[in-house]
Amino acid sequence: MNIILHGVAIGGGIAIGRAHLISHSMDDVAHYSLEDHEIAAEVTRFDDAVRATRKELEMLWGSIPENAPAELGAFLSLHIMLLGDVTISREPRDIIEKQACNAEWALKLQCDQLVEQFDAIEEDYLRERKNDVLQVVERIFKNLDGHAPQLPAPGDLLEDTILVAHDLSPADMAYFKDSNFAAFVTDVGGTTSHTAILGRSLDLPSVIALHQARELVREDEQIIVDGQQGVLIVNPDELVLNEYRRRQRAWRDARRKLSSIRKSSAQTKDGTPVELLANIELPKDVDDVRDSGAVGVGLFRSEFLFLGRDTLPTEDEQFESYRTVAEALKGQPVTIRTMDLGADKNPKWLNHDVADNPALGLTGIRLCLAEPLMFRAQLRALLRASVFGKIKILFPMVNSLGELKQAIAQVEYAKQELKEEGQRFAEDVEVGAMIEIPSAALVVGSFLKHVDFLSIGTNDLIQYTLAIDRNDDSVSHLYDPVHPAVLKLILHTIRTGIKGNVPVSVCGEMAGDPRLTRLLLAMGLRKFSMHPSSLLSVKQVVLNTHLDDIAPIAGRMLRSEDPDKIADLLQLLNAGPGD
Ligand code: PEP
Ligand code: MG
Repeated sequence: MNIILHGVAIGGGIAIGRAHLISHSMDDVAHYSLEDHEIAAEVTRFDDAVRATRKELEMLWGSIPENAPAELGAFLSLHIMLLGDVTISREPRDIIEKQACNAEWALKLQCDQLVEQFDAIEEDYLRERKNDVLQVVERIFKNLDGHAPQLPAPGDLLEDTILVAHDLSPADMAYFKDSNFAAFVTDVGGTTSHTAILGRSLDLPSVIALHQARELVREDEQIIVDGQQGVLIVNPDELVLNEYRRRQRAWRDARRKLSSIRKSSAQTKDGTPVELLANIELPKDVDDVRDSGAVGVGLFRSEFLFLGRDTLPTEDEQFESYRTVAEALKGQPVTIRTMDLGADKNPKWLNHDVADNPALGLTGIRLCLAEPLMFRAQLRALLRASVFGKIKILFPMVNSLGELKQAIAQVEYAKQELKEEGQRFAEDVEVGAMIEIPSAALVVGSFLKHVDFLSIGTNDLIQYTLAIDRNDDSVSHLYDPVHPAVLKLILHTIRTGIKGNVPVSVCGEMAGDPRLTRLLLAMGLRKFSMHPSSLLSVKQVVLNTHLDDIAPIAGRMLRSEDPDKIADLLQLLNAGPGD
C-alpha cells in the first residue's frame, strides 16, 4: 500500500531505504523467539518482574499519607489483588512456555485478551476496571525493562536501514550514534526535543511527529524520508522514487558546493568577525567539529556521558573523555556544560522518582547542587583536564544569582581539594552560565561580575517563556523562536553582556537555523554554537550579510509585538541584499 505521512522536518536531506521497526512501550512491544534452553530463564525473569511489582505496590500502599483520599488505598489494594490473579501472574508464564517467546510478548498477548474481555462488559464500573489492569501490566513491563534486547544492536543495522519508532529517548539516540543507518522517523516529539537535537547531530534525514508511522509501516518496507519537507512515503512507485532520487542528488550537490567555504573565515561583508562553534554530545564528535571548520566547541552536552549506562562514570573516566576533547581541539575553546540531567534525561543509576512535571523539577544545576559528590567528581575531572586544552565550564539551568554563586563555590572547593592533593589544573579556567530560564535572563546583569561568559540556551528559554513543552508535538506549532517575548529576553541578555564586556553566545537550536542568523547578528550576537552539520549554511549567510543593510528591518522586528508583522519582517530580512 502506498502511504504518505506528514510530520515535523528535522533536516538531513533525503533517504531511501528499508524500514526497521523499533519496539519500546506497551503498544510497541518486541517479539522474539527463544531456544528451548532459554525458556526456564525467561519464566524466572517474568516471575521476578511480578515479584518486584508486588513489592513496589505494597511499599506504595504502606506509605500512603494519613490525609490521602480513601480511594488511593482502595485502588492500590485493587492493583495488588489484580496482580495476584492468575490471568496476570500465571497465564503469561504458560504463553512463554507454549510459544517459546519473550516475557514482554507473552504479557502483551495476555493483556490484549483481557482488554477485549473488559471491552465486552456492559456494566460501566466493571468495564472501567480495564485501566487498572493496564496500569498493573504497565508496571510489570517497567520491571521487565532493561533486561530484554528491545533495541537492535547498533552493529545489526544496515546502511539503508530507516529506524521507525513511536519515540526515541535521548539515551536511545546516544546508543545509535555509533551505528550506520540511513534515517529515522518517530511518531512523537517537538522540534527542539532532545531526540530532534540528536537527530540533527547525526546529520541524517529525520522526520518526527508523524503520529502513525509505527502503526502503518511494516518491517522491511521501502520508504522515503524527506528530512527537508517532513514527509514519509511508504512503498513509493517508480515515478516517485525517481523524483526523490533527483532531489537527493540535488541536495548532496548543494552540500558539496557549500564545502567550498569551509576554510573561509566567518565574517560579514563589512568585515565584522563572527565565531562559529560546534555543539557536541560525545568525545567522538570531535571529528565532525574539525570537518565543519568550527573554531571550537561552544557546547559539549556532557550528560550524554552519563546516559545509557548502569553506573555513574567515575572521575577518571570523565577526565579521560574531557582530556580527549581538549587535546583534539588543540587549544581551541571547549565549553563543557556540567551534566544537565533530569527532565527527559534520566539515567538508570540516578535513583530519583520521575516527577509529575519533570521539566520544572530537579534538573540541571539544581540536581548538581543536590548531589554535591557527583557534581564535585565532575568538576574535579574538568579541572584536571583543563591543563590539556582550553576548557571552559558552563552551568546549565541557572535560575538566580544565589544558585550561580553556589555552583562557583563548588568549583572553588574542587580546586582547593586538587591543590591539597598536588594535582594540576588551569587556575584561570573560565566559568559561565547558561541563560535558558526567563528569570536568569531578567537578572542577567547580576551575573556579570561572577562569570567569564554567558551562553543562551534558546531551546529551554522558549519552552519556559512560552510555557510550551519542547517535547510535545501537539503544541509545537506554538513553539515560536521569534515570539516578541523571547526576542526581548535574548536581546536583553546580549546587550547586557556587551555592556558589561562579558561574551555572550547562543547555543540553542536558533544558532544553527540560517533563517535566524541575520536576526541574531542584528541583535549583536557574534558567537553562534550549533551542530557541525548546520555550520556551513550559517556561515554562508554570515558571508552574505552587511550589518548596515539588515539593521533597519531587524530594528523594526525587535520593536514589534505583533507576531504576524514579525514573521513578515523576518522574510524581508532574509530576502534582502546579499542573497
Ligand atoms: C538549550 O536549552 O537551548 C540548550 C542548548 O540546552 P539543551 O537543548 O541541551 O537543553
Ligand atoms: Mg537547555
